[in-house]
Amino acid sequence: MSDIACKTCDNGTMRKKKKYALGAGGAILKWLCILPGIVICLMGGCSLAVGGAGASATVDVHDQAKSDIRKQITEAGFSQAVADDILDDGILNKTDKTTLTDEQKIHISGFEAQYLGTNIGTGLAGATSAAAGGLGIAGLVIGFIIMALGLVLGIRKNVLSCDSCGVTISAG
Ligand SMILES: [Zn+2]
Repeated sequence: MSDIACKTCDNGTMRKKKKYALGAGGAILKWLCILPGIVICLMGGCSLAVGGAGASATVDVHDQAKSDIRKQITEAGFSQAVADDILDDGILNKTDKTTLTDEQKIHISGFEAQYLGTNIGTGLAGATSAAAGGLGIAGLVIGFIIMALGLVLGIRKNVLSCDSCGVTISAG
């Protein structure tokens, strides 16, 4: 297998070699694709991790904010039932408001607004986490595609090359 006479120059020997299918450019393109692909994949993985951590932190913040508001409501002299009413959907709608004084109604409006603000903040944080998570997945997919592209571009084929005149023939 190793000693095949060259049919072109008659005095050389054909040697088995591996050659980039796209020539020297293939070797460069391969690494130009694989290295950024790895970086994008890593960044995607980090985004996913950060997004996941953000999502679980959001739940903690929300629960914390709710218990803070509950504490303020009961400290303002309202019952747990009133606190439950506001914290369940942000509006005092199951309690008979006719029993409340004007001052108490103003207090309640404040707690309702506070709950609303907490929810908006939580929603924004949640959306940011979801976006980071989405970017992470996109990064993983894009990075993987770029790496795959690099591997395809960098495919090497077997050739027989003459050690004397340099002619090459495909060896399949
Ligand atoms: Zn030759």
